[in-house]
Amino acid sequence: MNKKIIYIVLSCVGVSLSLFSQPMSAPLFNPVEVNDEDRLENMMGKTIVVFTPHPDDETFAMGGSLALLAKNDNNIHVVIYTNDNKGSLDLTMTRERLARIRRAEEERSCEILGIDIENIHWLGYEDGDLEYADPQVLRGKIARLLKMIRPDVVFTADPGVKWNQWHKTDHRMAANITQDAFIAAEWHLYYPQHLLDEELQPFHVKDVYYYYSQEPNYEVDITTFFDLKMKASAAHVSQFEPSTSKYTSEMPKETFDQIRFGFSQRNAGGEGKLVERFRKRG
Ligand SMILES: [Zn+2]
Repeated sequence: MNKKIIYIVLSCVGVSLSLFSQPMSAPLFNPVEVNDEDRLENMMGKTIVVFTPHPDDETFAMGGSLALLAKNDNNIHVVIYTNDNKGSLDLTMTRERLARIRRAEEERSCEILGIDIENIHWLGYEDGDLEYADPQVLRGKIARLLKMIRPDVVFTADPGVKWNQWHKTDHRMAANITQDAFIAAEWHLYYPQHLLDEELQPFHVKDVYYYYSQEPNYEVDITTFFDLKMKASAAHVSQFEPSTSKYTSEMPKETFDQIRFGFSQRNAGGEGKLVERFRKRG
């Protein structure tokens, strides 16, 4: 979406831009105690699912962590709510073409991070319209995917814990629906057809990490994966100028350098470290 571009570019000149875009995550507060063997950094051979409103939120919010998890032989699934087919200022662009571009960019981004593109699940909702989808149907789709994939760990946008966290459109719906689907996946009578028609057993979601959190309590050192995150982020070339105004599949070096600078500020963890922050559900 074009608002991201404004955020990235303006963040380079030090302007506060929280009004323009989805806030990433706040500073770490009251870190949660996690045993070494249970930390994301040490996880191996697990099944992981990431729910993302658009094809790129997961890259921008946690691309470094995804690269780390992929390197450690975890099986990562990415569930994408929308086709992101409206984020262009190019007056010659069409929704259909942009959806194809966004799909190809996401696949490239996942390849860079080490995620099998066969594990990308496109729900195909129209960009910006997720809140107008039937919530009961949508929740059922997510519950069904949880019963099928049966992940050890789930990542999703943070709906908030003490209060409803602000999110831009699509992010709001995705954050709440994913959370609601956790319950619907566990209690079979919410969607009994999953068991009756497909023999899908109920599933209890255990380990949940929320990205885009304003109350993060957990951080992952992504310093050694930052270059991969930048390469994967740059694969979403249509979402950055000049491609947003006049589509081109090439990203100028100047744009890449701006993105890199913006993210190095967003992901700064002190003492030269680069980090991504999450709220780990208790
Ligand atoms: Zn988004």
